[in-house]
Amino acid sequence: MLGIPFMPIKTPITVAHGDGIGPEIMNATLQILEGAGAALEIETIEIGEKVYLRGNTAGIEPSSWESLLRTKVFLKAPITTPQGGGFKSLNVTTRKTLGQYANVRPCVSYHPFIDTKHPNMDVVIVRENEEDLYAGIEYQLTPEVTSCIKLISRPGSEKIVRYAFEYARRHNRRKVTCFMKDNIMKMTDGLFHKVFDEIGAEYPDIQKEAWIVDIGAAKMADTPEAFDVIVMPNLYGDILSDVAAQIAGSVGLAGSANIGDKCAMFEAIHGSAPRRAGQNLANPSGLLLGAVLMLVHINQPEVAERVHNAWLRTIEDGIHTYDVFTEGISTQKVGTKEFAAAVVARMGQKPNTLKPVSYAHRGESAAAPQAAAAASPNVETRGIDVFVLWPSRNPNQLAETVSQLAGGGLSLQMIDNRGVKVWPAGRAETFCTDSFRCRFIAEGAAAMPALIGLLGRVAEAGIEIAATQTLRTFNGQAGFTLAQGQ
Ligand code: NAD
Repeated sequence: MLGIPFMPIKTPITVAHGDGIGPEIMNATLQILEGAGAALEIETIEIGEKVYLRGNTAGIEPSSWESLLRTKVFLKAPITTPQGGGFKSLNVTTRKTLGQYANVRPCVSYHPFIDTKHPNMDVVIVRENEEDLYAGIEYQLTPEVTSCIKLISRPGSEKIVRYAFEYARRHNRRKVTCFMKDNIMKMTDGLFHKVFDEIGAEYPDIQKEAWIVDIGAAKMADTPEAFDVIVMPNLYGDILSDVAAQIAGSVGLAGSANIGDKCAMFEAIHGSAPRRAGQNLANPSGLLLGAVLMLVHINQPEVAERVHNAWLRTIEDGIHTYDVFTEGISTQKVGTKEFAAAVVARMGQKPNTLKPVSYAHRGESAAAPQAAAAASPNVETRGIDVFVLWPSRNPNQLAETVSQLAGGGLSLQMIDNRGVKVWPAGRAETFCTDSFRCRFIAEGAAAMPALIGLLGRVAEAGIEIAATQTLRTFNGQAGFTLAQGQ
């Protein structure tokens, strides 16, 4: 009897070959996926340098968005962002446009086959991907002073923290650690920490701990075995996931997943390394391990397992590209193509010394964490911070001038310079720039017309207003911090 050949249903994915070493490592990765029997329907799009240089400042064409939104899965090689102003980072745009709130970066050491000071390292960094200083909201306030707004939201923090705990559960991880700096940023990082404590309480089976990011980073660089899953706001996560990947062995070995409800993107954590391009030198491992995360995500865990174990076996056999090649440990220095062929040749094999991976029952399709709708608090306006240009840099003169402009129930409470109080009772030693913040506050509630009237008087006095921020209370709690020294 003739059997009907088994044809697995192919999952459509969007692939971009990128710039620099991108095309070489993508070809190697796709060859390995094919060798493992991945059931993929590949749609190719062009992104990056060529698109930027055609005058598209976003680095991606509208037709490419259409493919991404249809397949919802993006395997992306690194791209080169042209230097100079005007070009927006495609990576940040893609992550944010597609709501990819979680960046997951497993950082594992492969001792004794890849040189590392940390033989037992197995840390997963879960980085918030949409908020923080990466909102990219920046201003030049005055000739001397620039600013960048750090945004941390409750729904954004809830989504990433819940994702980290769900990830830990799904991957049998024992502990989730939060890194933040709420001793300084009490409102923004303070919210992140608070949400971590609240959501963590729903996971009694998982250990929890919180570290101030500076000492936490030092501990992670020194004793990474003390950590398991670490969740953190965007900027710390960006920096520390590179540190974690590098101390595990090499940034060239780590893959990353950007997870959102609408579309997920998988990539290497390194860039396009233009100096290494076109020489068959680059290590495709980072992108390949990103592709392994993708295979788990699209519910092909057996293929993910096959690829990952064949790759571990190749590493264990000492077949290494130049970046991880070490005399005495490695057995053969190979190029990108030869490395890919070596992995394909080991398909179906498992490592002997390194721990084989198992992805059974680890589909990533668990329900997306939903942020709870916030109860609407009682909000009261209490005053306004007015950032002004004051070229003479003399806070006492400024106080004398603007205190006369108060009125409508508002009075001048203090003036600071880059967050340090300089009036009243400032210190002569405090260095001042040309940008001052004048805080006007009311005894009780302040009416918006009173704030606007004040701004009108400041402007009429010929003082340049660089920025303003209303001061409010939420359920009676101040929605603003004190100045340093206030
Ligand atoms: P990079 O990560 O591209 O390269 C730094 C160095 O690391 C390289 O010179 C090379 O020696 C080594 N290296 C990196 N990946 C390697 C690999 N797979 N195999 C072997 N060696 C490897 O960082 P960079 O030089 O700062 O950035 C180059 C470009 O990449 C820039 O245009 C940057 O904007 C871009 N970039 C893109 C992404 C992305 O697309 N996700 C991420 C980071 C940087």
